[in-house]
Amino acid sequence: MIHLYNSLSKQKEEFIPINPDHIKFYSCGPTVYNKIHIGNARAFLAADLLSKVLKGIYPKVTYVSNITDIDDKIIEASKHENLPIKDLTKKYFDIYMEDIGLIGINPPDIQPFATDFIDEMIAYIEKLIDLNKAYEANGNVLFRVNTFENYGCLSGRKIDEQKHGKRVEVESYKVNENDFTLWKPSEKDEPGWDSPWGYGRPGWHLECSVMSEITLDIPFDIHGGGNDLKFPHHENEIAQTCACNGLDNAADFAKYWFHNGFLNLESEKMSKSLGNVIYIKDLLNDYQGNHIRLALLSTQYRQPIPWSKKLLDQAKSISTKINNFLEKHENVKPKFISTTKIAEALFDDLNTPRAIRIMQDFVQSQIFHPDEVATYKYIFEGSTQDTTIDEDTVKLIEELIAQRNQARNDGDYALADKIRDKLSKMNVSIKDVNEKTEWKI
Ligand code: AMP
Ligand code: ZN
Repeated sequence: MIHLYNSLSKQKEEFIPINPDHIKFYSCGPTVYNKIHIGNARAFLAADLLSKVLKGIYPKVTYVSNITDIDDKIIEASKHENLPIKDLTKKYFDIYMEDIGLIGINPPDIQPFATDFIDEMIAYIEKLIDLNKAYEANGNVLFRVNTFENYGCLSGRKIDEQKHGKRVEVESYKVNENDFTLWKPSEKDEPGWDSPWGYGRPGWHLECSVMSEITLDIPFDIHGGGNDLKFPHHENEIAQTCACNGLDNAADFAKYWFHNGFLNLESEKMSKSLGNVIYIKDLLNDYQGNHIRLALLSTQYRQPIPWSKKLLDQAKSISTKINNFLEKHENVKPKFISTTKIAEALFDDLNTPRAIRIMQDFVQSQIFHPDEVATYKYIFEGSTQDTTIDEDTVKLIEELIAQRNQARNDGDYALADKIRDKLSKMNVSIKDVNEKTEWKI
């Protein structure tokens, strides 16, 4: 039985799935305008760890993590690097996939790109406007925050407090200063899409509400991300999804909210905007991927990690000792076995430091437990187990293929290409054979 800390109830709870036959987990992914740093990697590793533990015990788990490929930072970076937006986002997406692979993180089961869901986002905004939860002003569309009574339920911030003490210029077109952007106008030379409100682009928060609902349907079991996403990102996602679906409670959107603590450098959060960042590849001269993985997992995911060379050196030394022991047991394949002590530690809110200590004890006393070794390898070496494609993903893929074929029949080749692109980003390749479309992941 897994116990997880739920940021919504602010306590550790027994994890009771909505449907034990199919666990659904969404975690916010990267904005692909720059390389990910080791702090971001911590967030992706926490989600990867949770998905692996869930996959170890439930028959079917769908883990979705999005790619933000439209955003102001991306537009700036594209100007700065003199690269078209599409090339820039492709470049940093490829680097992201390579970097997470270096520390044994598996790709999510579904990886939706924001720009592939613009039509759906426009429809979502139209619905919010119809419900009078959003309004248009100067080419912007804003969410009426005060129509959602439970705003602040996750972060604990009350609407009036949120801007207190900060000097922010309130845009004059906002009815309430806390109202946030669903759609904003783009300049002619900026990327954008035609919409009922003119040429523009979606707000960041909207994409996760739309893509989580499309890929997983609501309610789903777990929604995750770093601590800094609680406010405003997740709070705004909750407001949008609840408003659009006539819900009052965040738990009717996602039952458990899973947030990782920060990785800090000299007691400051590692962040691109502060410039105090370390990249995974910078560490590879002196450390292997599994040393870095162990260093990140040597602290439980909710606690802050004070990142240092000492931490890495310790992880390298522990990892080397454990690996020497594991080499003697090469025949044991990675597999999650839920009756082990290591699994028991992980069931306690993913207590990885305890799991490592258990393994160190076995190494010290040279006791060989095949099940413990299999479970340790599955989690700490990063699993390479085959992932099976679940029925819902198959349904989504087949629906997209049917839409593409319809578009081709209608002569709308631009739409057909767009859908093919969407499939390829989900790692699905398609081939037209004798009037039929074959696909594979
Ligand atoms: P971003 O690309 O900035 O949206 O960040 C991607 C993920 O990394 C989000 O879940 C953030 O909350 C998380 N994150 C960013 N900085 C850190 C940090 N220093 N420590 C842990 N997680 C972080
Ligand atoms: Zn998100």
